[in-house]
Amino acid sequence: MAARWGIVGASTIAREWVIGAIRSADGTILSVMSSDVDRARKYAADNEIGSFTTSIDELLSNPDIDAVDISTTNELHRDQAIAAARAGKHVLCEKPLALSVEDAKATAEAAAAAGVVFATNHHLRNSATHTAIRDAVAAGKIGRPLSARVFHAGYLPAHLQGWRLDKPAAGGGVILDLTVHDVDALRYVLGRNPTEVVALSQSAGMTSRGLEDAVMAVVRFEDDIIAQLHDGITTKFAETGLEVHGTDGSIIGRNVMTQRPVGSVVLRTADGDEQLPVEGGNLYEGVIRAFHSAIAGGSPTATAQDGIWSLATALAVKKAVAIRAAVKVETGL
Ligand code: NDP
Repeated sequence: MAARWGIVGASTIAREWVIGAIRSADGTILSVMSSDVDRARKYAADNEIGSFTTSIDELLSNPDIDAVDISTTNELHRDQAIAAARAGKHVLCEKPLALSVEDAKATAEAAAAAGVVFATNHHLRNSATHTAIRDAVAAGKIGRPLSARVFHAGYLPAHLQGWRLDKPAAGGGVILDLTVHDVDALRYVLGRNPTEVVALSQSAGMTSRGLEDAVMAVVRFEDDIIAQLHDGITTKFAETGLEVHGTDGSIIGRNVMTQRPVGSVVLRTADGDEQLPVEGGNLYEGVIRAFHSAIAGGSPTATAQDGIWSLATALAVKKAVAIRAAVKVETGL
């Protein structure tokens, strides 16, 4: 069912990706909410949205709105998602779902109690590259998976150099920004959950007030698979990647930790290198199409539980950095 949407947050992610994805998936956008009336007015005009408001209650009381996209700063997600669910709206919430596992679970519980769809915007699951890696692992093409590596260090563009850099209370820093995506991508391709982490972070000059702008972590997954992550926003010339290595082969994804439907995947075994087919469409359009199908009884791209797992693991990475010791990943799910 193509939904009629309200946008909660005059954000860059909605402007650059989600609004277009909703429209490409035959959804319509009825209103946008911003905390600032001038920003709301301009955002609505720039994005051809018919109405705007500074009141989430006003947006949520619109009976024509079926679903909301929540893409405000991270500390606001919890209360806005719970309010939306209680108003009977289906919720697509940006990652991280909240700043604590308890708060993320509270949003999931509110959605379950209200009987609405609740999805986490982990778009990478819709990348044809990630699906090719997952399918090859699941088909046993590399034998028993032993380890994985995620390269997700890049450079934060100037127009995004805001709250991520200097607002701990808004959930700034690279761990809540990027590590959550890595963890979800690894859960997706490995089909296993993380169990414990160790990590070191760096503050190389872009962030302030105790926030990290790079992190390297090692995460143990079920079946004793170990994965290493490198997330950063300070490296201008690094390439992204996702690799899985097994007893009988390796899968090497390049330029795959990205918002765009690009990248390549090679399967390397004793038979040589095989380029896997990775034709696919817009990742966010995939999120919206799956969300629409979830309203009709299907499954979203990433559930609330997926968002809880990625947040719990990212918070374990944060804690491991702080206490300089291994931390167990616990969701209680
Ligand atoms: P933005 O900084 O663009 O937007 C976040 C909030 O900042 C907006 O809701 C807006 O508040 C406020 N804001 C925007 N412009 C201004 C301004 N000029 N002055 C003051 N405040 C402003 O953040 P992002 O779009 O990058 O991220 C938003 C959320 O989306 C985060 O939770 C992030 O983690 C997530 N995200 C997810 C991605 C994904 O691929 N799934 C990718 C990127 C981000 P108001 O609404 O009150 O106007």
